[in-house]
Amino acid sequence: VKDYEIRPAASELRSHLFLASQGGASTTGQDPVAMIRKLIADKTAWEAGGSGQSPAGVVAASAAAGPVGAGKGGGGRKSRRLLAQTRWDDLAQLSHLTEDGILQQLSERYSSDMVYTYLGDILLAINPFKQLPIYSDAVAERYRDAAKADNPPHVFAVADECLQRLRQCAGARGQCVVISGESGAGKTCTADLLLRQVVRLSSTEQPALMERLLQVNPLLEAFGNASTVLNENSSRFGKYLELLVSPTGCIRGARLAHFLLEKARVVYQSKGERNFHIFYHLAHGDSHEHATLLARQTDFRYLHATFAPDSGRAAVHRAHLSAVRRGFLDLGFAETEVSSVFRLLSGILFLGNLRFNDHVQRSNADIATDSSKVANPEAASAAADLLGVSSADLADALTKTSLVARGESIQKFHSPADARASRDAMAKAVYDKLFSWIVQRTNDLLAPAASASGSTASAVSSIGILDIFGFENLSFNSFEQLCINTANEQLHYFFIQHVFNWERHELEQEGINVNVQVYDNKPVLDLLLGRPYGLLALLDEECSFPKASDLSLTEKLHKHAAEKYPRLYQQPKSATDLAFTVRHYAGHVTYSTQSFLSKNKDRLPVEIAALLRGSNLALLRSLFAQNVGPGGVSGGGNSSAAVSLGRPGSSGSTLVTPLSSAGLHKLSSGGSSVAGSRITGQTLAAYFRASLHDLLNRLLSAEPHFVRCLRPNREGRPDRIEPDKVLEQLRYTGVLETVEIRRQGYSHRLSFREFLAEYGPLVLGFSPVSRGASAGQAAMDLCRTVLKKLGLTGWLVGRHKVFLKYYHVELLIRRRAHLLA
Ligand code: ATP
Ligand code: MG
Repeated sequence: VKDYEIRPAASELRSHLFLASQGGASTTGQDPVAMIRKLIADKTAWEAGGSGQSPAGVVAASAAAGPVGAGKGGGGRKSRRLLAQTRWDDLAQLSHLTEDGILQQLSERYSSDMVYTYLGDILLAINPFKQLPIYSDAVAERYRDAAKADNPPHVFAVADECLQRLRQCAGARGQCVVISGESGAGKTCTADLLLRQVVRLSSTEQPALMERLLQVNPLLEAFGNASTVLNENSSRFGKYLELLVSPTGCIRGARLAHFLLEKARVVYQSKGERNFHIFYHLAHGDSHEHATLLARQTDFRYLHATFAPDSGRAAVHRAHLSAVRRGFLDLGFAETEVSSVFRLLSGILFLGNLRFNDHVQRSNADIATDSSKVANPEAASAAADLLGVSSADLADALTKTSLVARGESIQKFHSPADARASRDAMAKAVYDKLFSWIVQRTNDLLAPAASASGSTASAVSSIGILDIFGFENLSFNSFEQLCINTANEQLHYFFIQHVFNWERHELEQEGINVNVQVYDNKPVLDLLLGRPYGLLALLDEECSFPKASDLSLTEKLHKHAAEKYPRLYQQPKSATDLAFTVRHYAGHVTYSTQSFLSKNKDRLPVEIAALLRGSNLALLRSLFAQNVGPGGVSGGGNSSAAVSLGRPGSSGSTLVTPLSSAGLHKLSSGGSSVAGSRITGQTLAAYFRASLHDLLNRLLSAEPHFVRCLRPNREGRPDRIEPDKVLEQLRYTGVLETVEIRRQGYSHRLSFREFLAEYGPLVLGFSPVSRGASAGQAAMDLCRTVLKKLGLTGWLVGRHKVFLKYYHVELLIRRRAHLLA
């Protein structure tokens, strides 16, 4: 066994040896002695460099690589090289885990187009930036009900594992897959592949529903993705898609949540970047009623930097536009709704073209006041027409505001700059709310139908897929980056907790003495989210002072945060700089506090809200009547339940969570519903915290799987891996430090009852009588006996639970698969 360094082969061999020693036939009816002989023969042939069968696990690797593997694995030295490289499908198996060793393995695998690698139960996925033949239906089928070790690493295996877990433990926790990585690392593609595979593997009671589910990602990408300097299809929002699955593995519906849409992009794009895709599709398209309006006008300021009538691309955009329209209709949106959506988008484009001139306003008493006036009434008229309001009302709403002072209503005129700011605020608000509405409507359309008995969700579990923006450290970081990085800190904490703290806590609860060192990012989370001196809390507090400014905010942050978190918060060298630096787990980031207050207040002038509420376009009216919150998580209520990291059904395993330690739990009683309704006066930070809280609640209630996406090089080129670039990502995603935790850790823990029910039958002669023992000393002894008989080593048995390493579980699943076969 020792000689077989490849774990799957070794475990297979061990399994056959065990069966042979019991004198019985294997569960698949094969003669174990014959199987042992075959493994030895394979190994000998493989070592000789011939085209002989390679040891278990390696065979599958070359096979699933499809044509690539077939082409390169034809035999001889090359085949040997390829096979040898597949030895480390799981890097946690490397005897000496060093950065260099991991990098070398990843590089070698990548150069053979093996883009997936396990690191314990984490999947590393390096973006190939080219089409690989590993996503075909044939390959996908190999990952149906398979043991992980039987196939090479793949995102399809994660999908299969989720479904297997749901089927195995009826009524147990849902599954969630957390996909992380920097921009362009491949998160969105991975999320889509995962969705497709789950859809493919699940049973199909409703084929139409499957088709509709597949429309969700392309549709959201049209509205929420844009070309940036890092990625031509960069997601500018976070997305959590939950597939609602019955215990038999049948998808019943879906639920979608979104986070922090980067709405500022609607009105401004940095150099080399673009607006959201949908605007270009619309501006080029001519296949619907607003095309004529748009065709009259090709120069849209909101698309200014990048839009030029381009007949070559027009056909592509037209095709995209029809696909979006079809996607909407297939999902179940009404024709009128789709038309309204396009009409609003056109309205936003025309709104962006409004210009304002200086204008001197004279009152009855002939007092002159500086104000502004629309300089191009034809644009105002087109925008007003599309938005269903009168052009005079539109101009008024953008150029003046009413104030109440000493009981009197006074009109205040905007300068042209203020009018432009109002115009942009309006465009952003309309787009943001439209996006939230699309998500909300999609949720309504994909909600599971009530069963005959009237029960829906009760029997339904879920598989959630989280595709969220990665950590950002740009040359200029603002409020948005602070939120994005806070979300990443929270997810990192979740990750570390999953692999580490939870483990330690449970072992202690079980009376098992372990000496584990804690590394976590809780102090940074406290700095960001704590109350009352966390940065977001201080920001919110400052927003409630009418005289507050970015300077007063900066001083406040310096005063409190620098004092309380001196190691994590740094003031700028120059006292006049409106900035601060946070030491994040992924590195130092300097944030500019310029516009922090106004961004956080996120106020839409009341005149504009009133104008839009009075629109004769029903959709627009409803957007503003409903007050859908900014970046709100739609599609699920905000749970105010106490958050615990324990598995439901497992005894006494609650743990202080990142939420309560960071003060987030208080949000749920704050009355803001992430499901939609926005309470006037709520800040963006408050919404963000509520969204994050809701997300965390959902993740915590599920069994997590982690996919770490890696970008191989800065340029996004195929066949090129830059070790420094990869190393940097491995470091800041916490992968390297988790390696050690994983190797030491016991990631799977089952109560005696669960363990005996699930794995007892794998032992020959497991007595049905003994199944009665589910707790106490008798159960503990029985579990030990079963574990020994299964030939496993390195497990722990506590007071109530059995603790297994991730590879024990893989081995057991594999044995069960054999048994069932
Ligand atoms: P962002 O954070 O900017 O949204 P991302 O991590 O979601 O980035 P993707 O948009 O998924 O990155 O990937 C970027 C590009 O890389 C894709 O448009 C695609 O061209 C390529 N890509 C990603 N994954 C794969 C894959 N598995 N096979 C082939 N190409 C891929
Ligand atoms: Mg993306």
